[in-house]
Amino acid sequence: MSQALLVINSGSSSIKFAAYEVQADAALQRIANGRIEGLGEAPRLRVWGHDGGVLEDRCIRLPADPALGPGDAFRQLFDWLRQHAGGRTLLAAGHRVVHGGEVFSQPVRVTPGTLGQLEGLSPLAPLHQPHNLSSIHAITELLPGLAQVACFDTEFHAAQPWVAQAYALPRRITEAGVKRYGFHGLSYEYIASVLPDHLGEPGEGRVVVAHLGNGASLCAMRDRRSVASTMGFSALDGLMMGTRCGNLDPGAVLYLMRSLGMTAPEVEDLLYEQSGLLGVSGISGDMRTLEASPASEARQAIDLYVYRFNQQLGSLAASLGGLDALVFTAGIGENSALVRQRVCHGAAWLGVELDAAANQAAGSGARCISAAGSRVAVWVIPTDEELMIARHTQAVLAAGAPSA
Ligand code: ADP
Repeated sequence: MSQALLVINSGSSSIKFAAYEVQADAALQRIANGRIEGLGEAPRLRVWGHDGGVLEDRCIRLPADPALGPGDAFRQLFDWLRQHAGGRTLLAAGHRVVHGGEVFSQPVRVTPGTLGQLEGLSPLAPLHQPHNLSSIHAITELLPGLAQVACFDTEFHAAQPWVAQAYALPRRITEAGVKRYGFHGLSYEYIASVLPDHLGEPGEGRVVVAHLGNGASLCAMRDRRSVASTMGFSALDGLMMGTRCGNLDPGAVLYLMRSLGMTAPEVEDLLYEQSGLLGVSGISGDMRTLEASPASEARQAIDLYVYRFNQQLGSLAASLGGLDALVFTAGIGENSALVRQRVCHGAAWLGVELDAAANQAAGSGARCISAAGSRVAVWVIPTDEELMIARHTQAVLAAGAPSA
């Protein structure tokens, strides 16, 4: 009988999942993926098959349950999986966990001990880590015997050079863990794994990958390993994002608190939820909406997004000592021809030259969009964080999973 792996990526209001078939000596095959949205409000279960067709789309609010929590959501999900598993047995659940801190630089099998250590890292990512961990708790309660594996967004960056990780702070502060970790590591690791397939030789050289989703960052890679990233201690640093501010003078935070009387939770909400494209435009944090808007504030928000992208691309190119390839991925990177065109125009000084028609052409797979004579190869490569988690989960199980 064949087996299946479940991959979980949980946030504050939604749980994304994907199920993979595991067969001996064969690559993992995605069976279905989906999301439970509107947790605590109007929860909805949506599932798509491997061909993208809709398998399920329904409200899952229970009559006696006004605010469906993660435990109830997983009960519904497992019911659905049981009915549609086609006789496959569930082998394990692999989780995206945002922060591995300095403790975890590899995926790890979840035990009560590791779970305690992961909880200890929640202050490093207070808006993300608790949601990741509550999914692990919920599954432990529902299926206590199921193996669970935690995969970290920080791990791909763990071997960056010391100078890329340190802040210019007193050593005791750095040693207390206040350093640059970098995030979106599972996405970057997936892209690194397919770079040679698409780019050949330049894929092994000096590459900047731009993960531009609601959260956004750049990663500089040499030999397909992370050497620098724009996100630092937290997922706030670096590029301007949908609702997060990106780079900000820490003196501004002190001013907000001291002179404007804002509390830490108010500043946190301002910087994570009210800033970025949303804050600057006053319209939306969604790039598609801003591109369609005639308002000058929407144009200005995109101008700032592009300006700051180019500044930080320059910084990463400096870390690499040059640039051989630029790769776009995630929602904006894969779909916004406008953003790609504008940031590539601003990167002409680095040797980036776009093929305008290739950039505009509709497409969903990996594709080269640079002009024939461009010194820097420019690609769009769809990311697949779920597949990366499934691969790690399978590897941890196969290794007999020493629990850290
Ligand atoms: P998340 O980080 O939540 O996974 P995504 O990777 O799905 O987010 O990226 C969401 C972003 O991608 C949004 O800003 C959305 O507007 C943008 N996006 C998606 N499709 C397009 C498109 N066709 N044109 C411009 N932006 C797009």
